[in-house]
Formats: sequence, C-alpha cells, structure tokens
Amino acid sequence: RAAVAAPPLNTRKSEEIFTEAQTLLPGGVNSPVRAFKSVGGQPIVFDRVEGPYAYDVDGNKYIDYIGSWGPAIVGHAHEEVKAALHAQIEKGTSFGAPCAMENELAKMVIARVPSVEMVRFVNSGTEACLSVLRLMRAYTGREKLLKFSGCYHGHADSFLVQAGSGVATLGLPDSPGVQKSSAAATLTAQYNNLDSVREVFAANKGEIAGIILEPVVGNSGYIAPSQEFLQGLRDIATDEGALLCFDEVMTGFRIAHGCAQQYFDITPDLTTMGKVIGGGLPVGAYGGRRDIMEMVAPAGPMYQAGTLSGNPLAMVAGIKTLEILDRPGAYEYMTKITKRLTDGILKAGRDAGHEVTGGCISAMFGFFFHPGPVTNFEEAANNDKAKFGRWHRGMLERGIYLAPSSFEAGFTSMAHSEEDIDRTIAAAREAGGVQQ
Ligand code: PLP
Repeated sequence: RAAVAAPPLNTRKSEEIFTEAQTLLPGGVNSPVRAFKSVGGQPIVFDRVEGPYAYDVDGNKYIDYIGSWGPAIVGHAHEEVKAALHAQIEKGTSFGAPCAMENELAKMVIARVPSVEMVRFVNSGTEACLSVLRLMRAYTGREKLLKFSGCYHGHADSFLVQAGSGVATLGLPDSPGVQKSSAAATLTAQYNNLDSVREVFAANKGEIAGIILEPVVGNSGYIAPSQEFLQGLRDIATDEGALLCFDEVMTGFRIAHGCAQQYFDITPDLTTMGKVIGGGLPVGAYGGRRDIMEMVAPAGPMYQAGTLSGNPLAMVAGIKTLEILDRPGAYEYMTKITKRLTDGILKAGRDAGHEVTGGCISAMFGFFFHPGPVTNFEEAANNDKAKFGRWHRGMLERGIYLAPSSFEAGFTSMAHSEEDIDRTIAAAREAGGVQQ
C-alpha cells in the first residue's frame, strides 16, 4: 500500500506546559493513565472540549474516544448540561445539607438499574468501590473479597491486587504501600473462567464476603463476558452465601439504560457506579438491595460519609445526562456507530496485514494487536504493545484521540457523527499502512 504521511503535529505549547507540570505534579499528571508512558511521546494538553471533539492548547482538533474516561456519553459540554449547571451555580455550589436533586437522581437510578433499591452518592468510583467492600463485609461478617485479575476497581488498598488500567499499563500489579493484610484478604480468579472461581471458594469456605467484577471489562482493554460466566457467578455467590457486586463505574448507563446488568439480565446484589451519573462532575454511587443498603449509617451501623457527597452541581449534571440518554434511539444510535467503528478499525488493521481482534457493546469498544481470542487479562497481556504504541501515534497525528494504552477500552458518545466515525476509519487505514 502507498504510504500516506500525516502532516507533522505541532504540540509546542503542550510540551512546554507538560515540561513544567513534571516539576509540579508527580509524573506531570493528576492521574497516571493520562501520561503517555506506554505509548511514548508526551501527553496532549487540552484547552477545551465540545461534542465529540477535544481542542489542544496548540489549536489542534481531535475526535475524542476517551470522553474524559467515560463520563462524556452525551458529548462534551452539552448545552443542556451546561444550562443546568449555570442555573445551579446561581443557587450555590455546595450545601452540606439535603437537597431535592439527590432524591431526583436517586429515583432515576433506582428506576433504571435492576439491582438498586436504595443508593448512596459519593465522589468517585474509588470511593464507591471501597464503600461497597466495607458493606459486603459488614453484611456477611466475612473478611475476604474475590476479584478478577485485570479488573480495576479504583485505587483503595484492597483492590490493588492484580489490577488493570494504569496499574497494568505501568506494570505495577501490586503497589508498594498497600497494606499486606488488606491485599492478603483479596483473592483473585481469572475472568471468564468459572472453574477458577470455584477453586477459590473451595479453598476459602465460608470466608468470602463477596465477588466484585467489571461486568464488561474495560480496564484490561475491552473484554466481553460470556453469559454463562455472569450466570455462573450469580449462582455461585448465592450458593456460597456471598454477595455479588457489579462494578458498573464504567459500564453504568453506557451499555444500556439499566447498565450491563440489564443488558445481560443478571441481577447482582450490589452495584457501584460513577462516570456517567456525574455528567462530567466528580460523582460515584453504590446501591443495591434495600436490606443490605439499610446497614449504611445513619440507617444502620456501617459508617461511610462525605463532605461533598450528593453535591448539588454533580446531581444536576447527572440528572440532565440521564434525561438526555432517555431520548428515543440514544443507545441504538451509539450501538450502530460503535459497531461501524470497530468493524472499520479491525478491517483496516487486517488489510494492512496485522493480527487484530476486538469487539464492542453499545458505546464501549476495544481491540488488540493479538491473534485472538482475548477472554481474560492473561491473554490480553500478550498483545503487541509496541505495535499499538506506533499505531496510537499515527492516529494522534491524524487527529484521533485514543486511550494511550492497550489496556484501556474506547468510548463513543451520542455526539459522534457517522462522518466522525468514517474519518476515524480512514485515519486507521492510513496509520495502519505507514506506521507498522
Ligand atoms: N471501577 C471501574 C470499573 C473503573 O473503570 C474505575 C475508573 O476508571 C473505577 C472503578 C475508579 O473510579 P474513579 O477513577 O472515579 O475513582
């Protein structure tokens, strides 16, 4: 194929700002996944975002498939979300007291998510997961947790055990500073492998408080569950007296109105949420069966609190975002364009002679330079990361902003047009032809 070179990308201002940032912030960032550690080069510094686009400080425009790592499902800086925020700012930004919007967002979540009868809002996905773990322990009187290698549930001690996302990208499966006793109480099994789950339960009879998983993995790259795997986990948890928690921080309201649990028709006992329900503001939430949630203080004895929890700005942004997602055809549209994107990228890779595998559900997608299939983290770990790095650079130079790691999923939004998708596929064809 004839090589099609991209015009050079001028990122002078980005480089200046990032160089200074490295003297001020560890690694120049406030969250490791933003650094371009595994793909090389320097991160792009954004100036503003709008719809499906990001604009950097040097004036370059990108079609964005990170979407602020998930929240931007209705498109960045949506006019209606901004209007709701402006109106709320006039009334104050933080109350530290009950507000009616907490009830409104709670009712919306409870009406949509099958497992949720009561909900507690917090400020991040990490907080939601660490709180739900305490609740699983409080409810069952057991200490141990079962998670899956390559799944990420935030950065609390108990979860930094064979974790995905930035932990996998940086090759830090177990972080220094994690309390040994916390990590020891976290058991791991292999995703999509029920035998590995049964083995862990057999070796820890009556000691496991709960199972937590990403119902569709986005933090080892994109990995879909088998229906049998999810059903098997539901059955094992019930049989063993353990609680099942779907961590829907990423999949919540991205896979379907009722999250992945509705899509797969498997109801967990507890659910964690984040990203989309904050509409771009810092929010997390955990919810589930009423009898379990009523253990949370002050209804019950399990303590968990937050100065900014249920913050009125975050509530109105979340309410408006869920309202926009309710419009007819929202998920059908995102499913259609995401399938077209995934098929187009896979074909571009294969036509350029590469072994690529991947897939998508609703507005979440991913692919690996790997012969496939990829059903768990151990298989994902064998993807060709050097090739991904070159391809990532080639896409960036062509105005396509993708997660800078092969261990991260991609996200589309209601704002991506079919033309954006086709431009992305065209870029993939060019990048595949010249970069490898
Ligand atoms: N759980 C999952 C599945 C996630 O993808 C993430 C973040 O990416 C988290 C938990 C942690 O959320 P936060 O970054 O808001 O703390």
